[in-house]
Amino acid sequence: MTRSVAIVGGGPAGMALALALHRQGVAAEILDARPRGAARADQRILALSHGARQILAGLGVWAAIPHTAIATIHISHQGGLGRTRIAATEEQVPALGYVLAAADLAASLEAALAQTDIPFHDNHRVDTRPDAPLTVWAEGQVETGTGGVVTRDYGQHAVICTATASEAHQGRAWERFTPAGPVAALPWGKDYAVVLTCATRDADAIAACGDTEFLATLQERFGHRVRFTSSGPRVVFPLGLRYRQVPVADRQVWIGNAAQTLHPVAGQGFNLALRDIFELARCLTDAPDPGAPEVLARYVASRRIDRYGVAGFTDGLVRLFSNDNPLLRHTRGAGLLALDLLPAARSFVARRMMFGARGW
Ligand SMILES: Cc1cc2nc3c(=O)[nH]c(=O)nc-3n(C[C@H](O)[C@H](O)[C@H](O)COP(=O)(O)OP(=O)(O)OC[C@H]3O[C@@H](n4cnc5c(N)ncnc54)[C@H](O)[C@@H]3O)c2cc1C
Repeated sequence: MTRSVAIVGGGPAGMALALALHRQGVAAEILDARPRGAARADQRILALSHGARQILAGLGVWAAIPHTAIATIHISHQGGLGRTRIAATEEQVPALGYVLAAADLAASLEAALAQTDIPFHDNHRVDTRPDAPLTVWAEGQVETGTGGVVTRDYGQHAVICTATASEAHQGRAWERFTPAGPVAALPWGKDYAVVLTCATRDADAIAACGDTEFLATLQERFGHRVRFTSSGPRVVFPLGLRYRQVPVADRQVWIGNAAQTLHPVAGQGFNLALRDIFELARCLTDAPDPGAPEVLARYVASRRIDRYGVAGFTDGLVRLFSNDNPLLRHTRGAGLLALDLLPAARSFVARRMMFGARGW
């Protein structure tokens, strides 16, 4: 019998959970298929919410992570009127979110783990359920074909890179919806971190073209509110929705991307994972048997609204904005205009992005 909680997957979700459990006095161990340190090769730049920052600070890992604060978010759509702007000052928070490198997040989590006695078994692929009172699957993907999994293929990929602009970003993040998918430019150091969503069939060509051609594509999709002057190496990610409706089974829990893999349009994936982790650690605190059905049922009930709300919100955004239907184009424009005119509605969206569907 292993320690009371076996965590399969030592990516950011698995490592954060191990630290959260450690803080609550729950013994856990991590089993990961890759060599230790592999998560530091992740090229993604993430936007994390104010709520996520609070959770990471509670785990003692926030202070070591270089980050850029988001002061405003500008949202618009290609080919129509209507745009809105959400400001941290209006929401009375120090920042709407923080932009950081997934590699730095992983490095900080690893450093914190190294200060503990939590066992990390690397090069250890798990094929059958470990013999532990509770197994937490944090292996980064939702297995399909097992029932109870909602999937949607948007026919989109993301091409990510950094890009330099002609003017300083002043903490402004941009989200631009286009029929081919959303384009995000996040303030990152002196540059922008770009997520260019495109049709799956175009992804390889966009990733492989020369810098001049890429900048022209980016500018055409993004519009002219920012002028990009150069760009860094590109990496491609397939996108889709994979949502495990019930994230528990007999002595098992799924967290992070193993519970839900979301489109990055609203930057919610790891934010949601951290809220799952926070709540799971709370439910397991002082539980005599961490895999007991009543403990897992309590966890599921406490996460239902947030998980379902965030997955639905993200899916709805992608589907409403990723098409060229003229009727929907006017609806989108009217929606963005209404958001711009109604501070309460804007605040609702901002709080949902910052704290999840329950706004905590
Ligand atoms: C383009 C893009 C942009 C994104 N932007 C944002 C953002 O702005 N904000 C945000 O919050 N989220 C964002 N996300 C989502 C975020 O990147 C993920 O939520 C996060 O990386 C998932 O971490 P994880 O630990 O669940 O999975 P992973 O990082 O995939 O880790 C899984 C781990 O499990 C291990 N493993 C797998 N199988 C086994 C096995 N059988 N046995 C043992 N170990 C195993 C792997 O080796 C790996 O270490 C984005 C995603 C994409 C694609």
